[in-house]
Parts: sequence; C-alpha cells; structure tokens
Amino acid sequence: MSEQDKQIVDEKRRQLLKIGAGTIAGVSAVAGAGTWVKHRVDGVVQDEFPVEVSPDYRSMDQRDVLLTFGMSPKLAKQYPERNLTFGEETAGPIQPGEKPFNFQNHMINFATAHERADNDRVGYTQLDYSLEQACWYGMNNLAPLQSTGVPNSGTLSWDQSDLHHEKYPFKDSVEMISAIKTAAKTFGAVRVGVCRRDKRWDYDPLYDVTQEKTLTWEEDFPFEPKSVIVMLTDMDYEPMATAPMIPASATAAMGYTNNTIQAGAMAKFLRGLGYQAVGSGNDMGNSVAYAIAAGLGEGARNGTLIAPTLGPRVRISKVYTDLELDDVTYDKPRNFGIMEFCEHCKRCAESCPSQAISMDDKPSMGPTYPGCDDPKYNWQGLSGMRKFYTDSKKCFKFWSENGGDCGVCITACPWNKPDFWHHRLIDASNAVTSGVVHTMMKQADILFGYGNVNDEQAVIKFWRSGIDGDFT
Ligand code: SF4
Ligand code: SF4
Repeated sequence: MSEQDKQIVDEKRRQLLKIGAGTIAGVSAVAGAGTWVKHRVDGVVQDEFPVEVSPDYRSMDQRDVLLTFGMSPKLAKQYPERNLTFGEETAGPIQPGEKPFNFQNHMINFATAHERADNDRVGYTQLDYSLEQACWYGMNNLAPLQSTGVPNSGTLSWDQSDLHHEKYPFKDSVEMISAIKTAAKTFGAVRVGVCRRDKRWDYDPLYDVTQEKTLTWEEDFPFEPKSVIVMLTDMDYEPMATAPMIPASATAAMGYTNNTIQAGAMAKFLRGLGYQAVGSGNDMGNSVAYAIAAGLGEGARNGTLIAPTLGPRVRISKVYTDLELDDVTYDKPRNFGIMEFCEHCKRCAESCPSQAISMDDKPSMGPTYPGCDDPKYNWQGLSGMRKFYTDSKKCFKFWSENGGDCGVCITACPWNKPDFWHHRLIDASNAVTSGVVHTMMKQADILFGYGNVNDEQAVIKFWRSGIDGDFT
C-alpha cells in the first residue's frame, strides 16, 4: 500500500470513528428519551401550516407551470422570451445556424426517448424503456397526460353525473375519516391524510393544454371543494437506485399509474356516498403543499415531499370533495425534523446533474438561483413561502437530455432507504438529533455506500431483483 493510500485509509477510519460516535450519540438519545422520542418521530403536531407564508402569497397561474408551458404551442407563441431567455442564460447567445432553445421541443424529445433505446448503453436499453412504457400504460389509458398537469382527464374527470342522490348517513366526522382512510388503504395508498381545501395551493386559473383554454374554479369546476384527501403511493427502492437511468423513470411512471388509480377510485367512492369529488394528480394544485398540510411529511431541499420512513420516494395524489369534517378531525401538519436535516445535508444539491437545487444554508422567501432576479428568466418561480427554491427549468432540460426523468435527488437522499429496522432506527435518530449529527449521518451514508447515482451495478442488481432476495 502506498503512503498516500495509507493516509486515505487512516482518514476514512478517523471519519468512521467520528461518525460512529455521532450516530451512537443519536441512537442513545433515541433509546434514552422514551416517549418524547416517539412523539418526535411520529411528528410534532402544528396548529398552522408549518412553513412561513407571506400574506401576499398568491395561487400559481397554471400557465406558468413548466410542464404546462412545455406542452403548449399557444403559450410558446404568447411568451417567446421564456424560451429565448432560458436558452441564452444557460448556453449563451445563439450562434449562426443554431436553433434557439425551445421547451416544447424538449418535451417532445423527452416523450419520444424510448424510440432511441440503445442496447449497448446500460440503463437505457430496450429492456429498460419497455419497462418504463409499460409502467406509463395504466396512467396513459386511465387519465392521459395528468402527469403533465392536464385536468379533467379520464378517471380524474370533473363529471359528477354518477353522484348518488342520497348522502350516506355517517354518524360523525370520525366515522367519515375512518371510512376515507380505510378506502385509501384498500386502493393501495401507503399513507393518507385529510385537510381543509386551501385556495393558496390551487392553480388559479387552471389551464387545459389539450384545449389551450383557461378554466376557473368558480365557473368551470363543478362544485366548491371543502376538503382535500391526500394519498401517497411509494416507488420501489431498487429501480430508484438506478437514477438517473431508466428503471428509475419506470418506478416513477408506476407511481403515476398508481396514484391515478387511487385518486380515481377515491373520487368514485365519495360520489357513491353522495359527496361531490374529483381526483387529481399533478393537475389542479400544489400536491407537496397539500401533503404537508395533511401531516404526511415535510417539504425538502430537493423540492419533493419527504415522508417519514419512505423519504422522497413517494408520489402524491389528491381528491377534492365537498365533504366536510369537524375542525378537530382534520389531520394537522407535523414537524418531523426533516427541514432541519436538509439545512445541514445538501447531498441532493451536490449530486444534481443540472445544478438545479439550492446550496443555500437556510431556506428563503424567494428563489436565489442565478437569473432569479430577471422576470424574463424567472417567469415560473413562485415566491412568498420559506423553502429551498429549485430551478425546475434546468431540471427539466436535463430530463430531456437524459431521456428519462432523472430521480438523482431522490436516490441520493439519506432519507431514502429500504425498510430495514436499522434504517428506521437511524430515521428516529435523525428526528431527535441536531445539526452536527445530521452532517455526520450524511457522511456515514456516503461511506456505507448509500445514495450512489449513475451506478451501473444498481441496474444489474435491479434486473436480478425478481429472482434474488425474498421476492419469489
Ligand atoms: S430530478 Fe435530477 S436534475 Fe432534477 S433536481 Fe433532481 S437531481 Fe436535479
Ligand atoms: S438529500 Fe439531504 S438536503 Fe437533499 S432533500 Fe434529502 S435530506 Fe434534504
């Protein structure tokens, strides 16, 4: 062993010892603090939405949502500066003979990537893409284009013609929420919460890109929603571990199919009980905000929801309904210590191939990424909520170039782990320890080989997972 190699090994040993001490301290805290720890791990209930929101905060116009804009030739013509400015900011002035940047072409590129499968490129073969297409198949037939934000589609239709003429005689709100949660479990959701409808999180106006038409809640939506049921479906650990390669896209696509089934079934269930209801996926509003409000997790640095024990490896669906519960029966937001962990971690931002994720130390009330002060560049970024702002335009550009929807910031995240008992113990210590331990835990994750991305071995392992392990 060379002198340099010895030094590296010694340094790793020193780091491991430090990490071990920190982890043991965290785990000891878990073991020693009894019911308080359990309380913290289950989440500390908050009276209000747990993130600072400015009084000036406004609902987002769906025409400014990137995937909606990217689908729309009409909006591309209406706002040519959106394409031009992004192209120039990210690639410099257009050179003679060069085509200007265009989100709409990138969307087509992304949607047709499976046609360019390459059997010599691990993770991008016909096998990988065929799996991804199969996973999209359910959503594409049940609620076409909901993943890109198209409302009123298929099983997520706004049609209320099958509404039962009589309301089921629930005894009280507890019986209502119990029925809703039992039904969600039956539909395959892994978590469910119910919160009041909050107009701040809804797109307004909505935009149906298939008709190139704005829609309003007051005139076009069939009823005034009172409550929103939020359901989570999980994505498999092993395919997600291949990110940004295509098996990761496949499990995300299956997540969309599952949440289409679950939201459609829940809306149908409620209409059968005499309550108006419409299921929703990526359309209608901000799913992460609703999931936080329903107590299912916290918003994270990478822009996703992190749910305890599942991490960011979840997809969210929601159902708008006129069913109303007593105030005390609604689920409440909860603090799990996740945002505090994010402040010290940054692993997703360090791993992101498009540098779309904030490296700031603290969340802010508006975007801080390059170009955010230029309204021609930052036409899409909301502000007025304290969080880490990602530049989703850069993220989407990478998706198009990659030929699949990335997922690196999910795979790299220390909260993303298989469901083994020792990981649950570590989750518990995450929730009760503080900054310096969080940093050490992130380092431990790296040293123990978790959260690797671009890992060809993960693809091989994934394609063996049907016969290896305990599946068969
Ligand atoms: S999906 Fe990929 S490109 Fe997008 S923010 Fe996450 S890591 Fe970055
Ligand atoms: S990788 Fe770290 S910073 Fe990023 S979302 Fe996960 S915990 Fe937060």
